[in-house]
Amino acid sequence: MADFKNYIDGKWVEAKSGATYERRNPATGELIGTYARSGPEDVAAAVEAAKAAFDRWRKLPAPKRGEILFRVGQLLIERKEQLAREMTEEMGKVLTEARGDVQEAIDMTFYMAGEGRRLWGQTTPSELPHKWNMTQRRPIGVVGLITPWNFPIAIPAWKIMPALICGNTVVFKPASYTARSAVRLVQIFEEAGLPPGVLNLVLGTGETVGTALVQHPDVALISFTGSNEVGQQVAVECARLGKRVSLEMGGKNAIIVMDDANLRLALDGIVWSAFGTSGQRCTAASRVIVHEAVFRELADQLDARVSRLKLGNGLDPTTDVGPVVSESQLERVHRYVQIGVEEGAQILTGGQIARDGDLARGHFHQPTIFVDVRPEMRIAQEEIFGPVTALIRVRSLEEAIAVCNGVRYGLSASIFTRDIDKAFRAIEDVHTGIFYVNAGTIGAEIHLPFGGTKATGNGHREAGQAALDVFSEWQSIFIDY
Ligand code: NAD
Repeated sequence: MADFKNYIDGKWVEAKSGATYERRNPATGELIGTYARSGPEDVAAAVEAAKAAFDRWRKLPAPKRGEILFRVGQLLIERKEQLAREMTEEMGKVLTEARGDVQEAIDMTFYMAGEGRRLWGQTTPSELPHKWNMTQRRPIGVVGLITPWNFPIAIPAWKIMPALICGNTVVFKPASYTARSAVRLVQIFEEAGLPPGVLNLVLGTGETVGTALVQHPDVALISFTGSNEVGQQVAVECARLGKRVSLEMGGKNAIIVMDDANLRLALDGIVWSAFGTSGQRCTAASRVIVHEAVFRELADQLDARVSRLKLGNGLDPTTDVGPVVSESQLERVHRYVQIGVEEGAQILTGGQIARDGDLARGHFHQPTIFVDVRPEMRIAQEEIFGPVTALIRVRSLEEAIAVCNGVRYGLSASIFTRDIDKAFRAIEDVHTGIFYVNAGTIGAEIHLPFGGTKATGNGHREAGQAALDVFSEWQSIFIDY
């Protein structure tokens, strides 16, 4: 029997095969529970339920759909602390960040609930007399949502809320590491009175459940957030099947620090962006591009500050940096540290897997800073997704922008400068979907579109009004009178 089950057509059910898998706390190694390990037959049942629920759900007036979301939002507020604590246990991020993750979900829920009272179309003049032209947003159908583990409540909410408010029904496949958080989120929808079949949850591996969802002929859209390796496979499959797909993938985000920067502010931004969530954010600052005039001073201060960061269980309020999500992620991160050394970069801070005392029970890597990094090195080009950042020395703003743009990704970037002219030049010339001035690379809000250029995505955006464009399509209506 699984502790955490699938939710299909309004019922909590085991995988049809009865199979399960386990998840352990990445900080302590303690067992969290057993989860349904589903197969294609479970996906088929979920899609069937979503298909059957679609017509009634899309015809429920959007403000009424929004009212259910308002109730979900209230319950999220009530459960915030419990959801956050369980998230920290399940994937390791420190409790203050887990609270922030839930808060992002709350913000998105109320934002999209409000959209239920808008969902505007347009009326336009006609070229002809006695003709009325207008548009309305229509839902797409059954949508498949595939999410990563690094934002276990926020990213699912960023997809589920716009999908539902637009009138779609959903099959949700969360990352297998964070399936308990997904169960908790779906339980809230159940309590809020969402009709059966409108939101279905299928737990299991990406290879089995993800693939079955992508390949199911009755799933009209896949919205995917995760790695480029998997996202590209999903895109190929969707293209083959003529299916819509929205992709949010990796990043290699940079902070630029100019010679006139407020260094205290820059230090705060770098430490938070590089080591928050142990560097496991798509927007993490894994490169810091520093003007030569302030390089030494910044590097020394950063080393002093980062050496003092305390690794530990994210539930302990004195912890600064939690574990990475799994043993394989720890190995991957450390392999990149070794690659950096092999390439000739120098470790300024950290560099080791942390095994002192209780840390040996979990998956901890020391926060690590490299210097003597050339922009073409692998540690400055590839997504590491761990607590590792590379300091790169430049001589001018032009060089900084060229280095910033010289990667395949285009998610987030930032500049620290007191010169408004430099800030605007960077805004104009940096090719990322998100840009910050005098702040780090993380900290997106729900009101503005979220997503990246180049290899980070396929042009779609989450959050804000832009999310509605993913989960609805336009119908043009011409009325002769
Ligand atoms: P992942 O690609 O390994 O997994 C993402 C999801 O896809 C999971 O639910 C997984 O089970 C599923 N999956 C795996 N194989 C699949 C397949 N063959 N078919 C269908 N689904 C499959 O990513 P992850 O390790 O969970 O997350 C980390 C990655 O996510 C990083 O690259 C990070 O940059 C990216 N990310 C991007 C954003 C963004 O908005 N751009 C946000 C968060 C994370």
